[in-house]
Amino acid sequence: MISKQMHIETKLIHAGEPEPLIGGAVTLPIFQSSTFQYNNEDHYDKLKYIRMNNTPNHVALHRKLASLENADAALVTSSGMAAITTALLALLSPGDHFLAQDCLYGGTLDFINSDFKPLGISVDYIDGNKPDTWSKQLRAETRVIYVETITNPLMAVADLKAAAAFARNHGLISMIDNTFASPVNFRPAEWGFDLSLHSCTKYLNGHSDIVAGAVIGREDLIHKIAHKLIHLGGSLDPHACFLLHRGMKTLAVRMKYQNESALAIAEFLAHHPVVEKVNYPGLETCTGHVHARKLLDGFGGMLSFEIKGDAADADRFIERTRLPICAPSLGGVESLITRPATTSHSGMSPADRKAIGISDRLIRLSVGLETTQDLIDDFDMALT
Ligand code: PLP
Repeated sequence: MISKQMHIETKLIHAGEPEPLIGGAVTLPIFQSSTFQYNNEDHYDKLKYIRMNNTPNHVALHRKLASLENADAALVTSSGMAAITTALLALLSPGDHFLAQDCLYGGTLDFINSDFKPLGISVDYIDGNKPDTWSKQLRAETRVIYVETITNPLMAVADLKAAAAFARNHGLISMIDNTFASPVNFRPAEWGFDLSLHSCTKYLNGHSDIVAGAVIGREDLIHKIAHKLIHLGGSLDPHACFLLHRGMKTLAVRMKYQNESALAIAEFLAHHPVVEKVNYPGLETCTGHVHARKLLDGFGGMLSFEIKGDAADADRFIERTRLPICAPSLGGVESLITRPATTSHSGMSPADRKAIGISDRLIRLSVGLETTQDLIDDFDMALT
């Protein structure tokens, strides 16, 4: 039996596992069955069917994810975007207003900016580091405040404690995209957040072989979101559930290694004469370092930086590196490198990117599990 006090490494292995083990299987098998025998269920939502997110593979993941963040409940979804869009659509209605941090993941920003207006839902963007300015943007119809633990791609950490407190004081639902930190480095429920969202495609799965998402938090809200998910149909396939379940078991060892490796690489880059700026919450020079030290158990495996020159120089540097693969996404065992202007934030206009500080020469690195020194040697060669 797993208790709340146990450490995350133990919970990753044992929390949520079926008791007793099904047929004695040490690894939860894949229940590749779309439907299950009727067992006098008294409500439509309780019928066992993959779209209802209640097969044994879903249930085990829900329990494990909730336990990792010391939250009440969790729900897995077919992608990180399915988690974000389904949660927001479940909690906001026509006429509602919400506050969102001004530097969010490009897909989330694009969804908010293009899909909410026709639904009659409005948004105002807030500076995560200026809590004093937030109440000016409050309205009677404000329902939600939405932030990210570590922003993409500038790796800023906002005053998250203030965001949760602001929500509590004004009767709002607080939502946080915790993808970049993972439950190893930050557990939003412990800081008073109502809901945490994940692209499990990234650190939680960790092997760049599935797309998946999760919402973790207050039971009443998860129940509402689960109902919306049944309508929208963004449930996770049992085979992907199995892969996510398997990947999650090594999250703590991966994340701790990535925390250490990324910090060493950030420090190397910060001292290199050709590098102009490094964004990593573990560096004292970085925006949000003070918050990051207070809130996070580790600074994560993501960093971004600008080398001297222009976008063509940045591309040349990326081409010259031998170890990281030039690809979008993050959080896998292999290091990935991209220029956000051409990948994660290419949906934004150059002017909008510039306004939030994303230059065309910004390079983003997801540090994998390669030997740190090999990565540093590779970057040193590519910079020279
Ligand atoms: N949230 C963040 C912070 C992300 O970086 C991403 C994808 O890159 C998403 C959400 C969306 O996740 P998915 O691609 O699994 O839908």
